[in-house]
Amino acid sequence: MIKKVIPFIILVVVLIVGFNAYKSSVQEDFNDISHEEVNRIGESYTGIYHRPGCPKVQGDTVKAQRIEFENNKAAKDAGYAPCKRCKPDED
Ligand SMILES: [Zn+2]
Repeated sequence: MIKKVIPFIILVVVLIVGFNAYKSSVQEDFNDISHEEVNRIGESYTGIYHRPGCPKVQGDTVKAQRIEFENNKAAKDAGYAPCKRCKPDED
């Protein structure tokens, strides 16, 4: 009788572990999204950094000239100035 129950218990354990792994991977996705929101994009040829949604950075900027920064401080430390249009240094 016990031997018949063991595979069922293993199945339940696997399901719980799998669900937790799935849950934490989904949570990481959410973290990535909020992380992207604080990202700043610098333009290497102008020395100005923007919010990702700024129309100036979405237009004619060549992708190779874009540098991603984690936050305002990282952009300023690299010598970039905030864009006057999207004002990335104001929240
Ligand atoms: Zn901008």
